[in-house]
Amino acid sequence: MCAKYEHSAARHALQRELAEGGIRSPSVLAVMGRVPRERFVPEGVRHLAYADRALPIACDQTISQPYIVALMTESLALKGGERVLEIGTGSGYQTAVLAELAGEVISIERHEPLSQEAARVLEELGYKNVQLIVGDGTLGWPEGAPYDRILVAAAAAHVPPALEEQLAEGGTLVIPVGSSQQQTLEAYRKVGGRLVAEPLSGCRFVPLVGAEDGE
Ligand code: SAH
Repeated sequence: MCAKYEHSAARHALQRELAEGGIRSPSVLAVMGRVPRERFVPEGVRHLAYADRALPIACDQTISQPYIVALMTESLALKGGERVLEIGTGSGYQTAVLAELAGEVISIERHEPLSQEAARVLEELGYKNVQLIVGDGTLGWPEGAPYDRILVAAAAAHVPPALEEQLAEGGTLVIPVGSSQQQTLEAYRKVGGRLVAEPLSGCRFVPLVGAEDGE
């Protein structure tokens, strides 16, 4: 079988797996079935491109697990036309997924080699609505603010104040919050100038089962 066909079959299998895992948005599922993840992973792990797992990339970083990419994207409820700020470009895979669904994506990465490699792949794939910046994403990028959506791909103890400030009124910010050992994915909406926690759509945990589980 030729590699191209093999990748597309694996991509569709992953798409089914994501749907079974609780991703509901048809547009997110369609994009996950379209963006070639194999182009964003190093050659040595290309055969694992469609396993639902994080994989190593350069600079000791990882390309996020497809399920997390889909879940975070779904939580942003993109309709098209939004201005999105992403913190942690990494491989650029999540950036491509966002670029398919939003109007414009500005993505910040602190490791220049990662940003450069992501830029090369995104350009080869023809994404024109993406701007990559090398810098510290905890400071956001005031020049482009306000943003309708902000996606943070690296864990933080709390929402960086600059990101809260640069989020547009009514906008959504999604971020893994917690310690280095344990994090939960949180979505916030800016209402009346303040962040309000919003339960993540499609987020499913196994039930707590026991004598005092409230049932
Ligand atoms: N979603 C991306 C990668 C996630 S890994 C993908 O799928 O490929 C998180 C990335 O965040 C890493 O590349 C790391 O270098 C970057 N990062 C961590 N702290 C950062 C900061 N303060 N500013 C910008 N990027 C940061």
